[in-house]
Amino acid sequence: MLIDTHSHLGDQQFEDDRHAVIERAKAAGVSHMIVVADSLESATLSFAIARDTGMSATAGVHPHAASQWEDGSTDQVEEFISRPEVVAVGEVGLDYHYDFSPRDVQRRVFQTQIEIAEKAGLPVVVHSREADDDMTAMIRDSRATMILHSFSSGTSVFEAALEGGHYVSFSGMITFKSWKDTDSIRSVPDDRLLVETDSPYLAPVPHRGKRNEPAFVVEVAKKAAEVRGVPVEEICKNTTNNAVRLFGDRLTNKSES
Ligand SMILES: [Zn+2]
Repeated sequence: MLIDTHSHLGDQQFEDDRHAVIERAKAAGVSHMIVVADSLESATLSFAIARDTGMSATAGVHPHAASQWEDGSTDQVEEFISRPEVVAVGEVGLDYHYDFSPRDVQRRVFQTQIEIAEKAGLPVVVHSREADDDMTAMIRDSRATMILHSFSSGTSVFEAALEGGHYVSFSGMITFKSWKDTDSIRSVPDDRLLVETDSPYLAPVPHRGKRNEPAFVVEVAKKAAEVRGVPVEEICKNTTNNAVRLFGDRLTNKSES
């Protein structure tokens, strides 16, 4: 059993066959998927998918869309995360690669959403790209638990995350030939490790170049097992336990709420 802690099942690439994709994932042993939203508009679709399928969702504003943050956005995020299917604030963070929103706006919107999560007692799904210095500082200040999603940052971010008791989630990127940072995979403690697809993006080897889907999280787990020198079953067990501890009992598929 595995949990895909980060999939964009609301993406239009899944419009035609979303339910078949979810069934394929279940057949591959993926018991639960978190449907991640990246804007307040996309959140509504994520909730609907999560409700219809018994999966979970997130709500939050991605750094790309940070400049769309308005006065009423705090209230809206707070309303969204009070829904039973919502298990985290996300994805939020800093992206200085694309700089689609001004950096000061990205930091302000990220900080606001960290505080919303802290107040609600929910974890924060964090996107971080080429923003290591600011991200390190903001992780160190955060009183909400964070998940560094599709981890590909440097040592300072990694250390801040582990020292703060946060979680590190690896995606299909770790299966790429270009992936050199095996140290980070090896040094995450067993109880801080998560796996994800970030589908439809970043399809792992041997599916590279195709649309990614939650079933392929199996390849991420296999690679993590290989690098850590442990049986894949151990990765499955630990990452599933971690996801349930972090996001809640809804991920066991047993709760009716
Ligand atoms: Zn994502």
